Amino acid sequence: MAPIDLFFDDDIRSIPSVDSPQMEESIDVNELLNDPMHTALKFNGTITSTIRELLKCPVCLNAMYSPIYQCSNGHTVCSSCKPRIHDRCPTCRHELGNIRCLALEKLAASLIVPCKYQGFGCKGIYLYHNRIKHESQCPHRPYNCPYAGSECTVLGDIPSLVAHLKDDHKVDVHNGCTFHHRYAKSNPQEVENATWMLTLFSCFGQYFCLHFEAFQLGTAPVYIAFLQFMGDDNEAKNYSYSLEVCGDGKKMIWEGVPKSIRDNHRKVRDSLDGLIIQRKMALRFSGGDQKELKLRVTGRIWKEH
Ligand SMILES: [Zn+2]
Ligand SMILES: [Zn+2]
Ligand SMILES: [Zn+2]
Ligand SMILES: [Zn+2]
Repeated sequence: MAPIDLFFDDDIRSIPSVDSPQMEESIDVNELLNDPMHTALKFNGTITSTIRELLKCPVCLNAMYSPIYQCSNGHTVCSSCKPRIHDRCPTCRHELGNIRCLALEKLAASLIVPCKYQGFGCKGIYLYHNRIKHESQCPHRPYNCPYAGSECTVLGDIPSLVAHLKDDHKVDVHNGCTFHHRYAKSNPQEVENATWMLTLFSCFGQYFCLHFEAFQLGTAPVYIAFLQFMGDDNEAKNYSYSLEVCGDGKKMIWEGVPKSIRDNHRKVRDSLDGLIIQRKMALRFSGGDQKELKLRVTGRIWKEH
């Protein structure tokens, strides 16, 4: 346990003075760098891997937060794993009891750590216990791939997701803020749930993706078309879009605000936030013998002032 002695160095002990209960959750990095405690921060950086190991729960491997429990031999475990291991220490199998590891809890409380999305451009550093809250809302946190047709687990910032959609999902990118799109399907009566190829639109220096899906709304088979904004919700609100489907002398129009791709496509679909066309109606729009789905969707994206 030699490295832990480092933590009782005077430099490090000065950290808790930054850590007052009134403090806002984010610490300005520049402020810290201009501070005499800069050295403490740097020093802190060199031992974080040891501390990180100490604060890692041996069962779930996640970072531990108060309360942290320990067995009579001093092995630690997190509070969410404790009830799941039937009161046996996961390391030595001794009885666990209810002994808190206050030293480790205090150590954790004194830490200031960078946001885990540092690599994505976040410069924030946070008190250990505040980091999770920040990370759940960090504007730099990566987005999930918005492609709906597969269980894709790719994460990334917008430029890397655009490249991924083009390269790996073979998605087409259209430039401009108006579009005409055709969706076709033979034997649509047999299709209960289906997703069509996503289309990307590039306009106003942003990317939007157009989803088209067949699903069951209650007992009724329907189609839905909707647009998602590749960025955060607060920016998505600056845009509006319309979708229009027509045929056989009829027309349906939808106007809305694109949802951020932070929302899963299924969530947007289930909130019915898009142009919904009943299958019967869609086949009427398709014309002909109504045996085939042939929908022409036209759309427009504009910026709100
Ligand atoms: Zn755990
Ligand atoms: Zn133990
Ligand atoms: Zn962050
Ligand atoms: Zn993907």
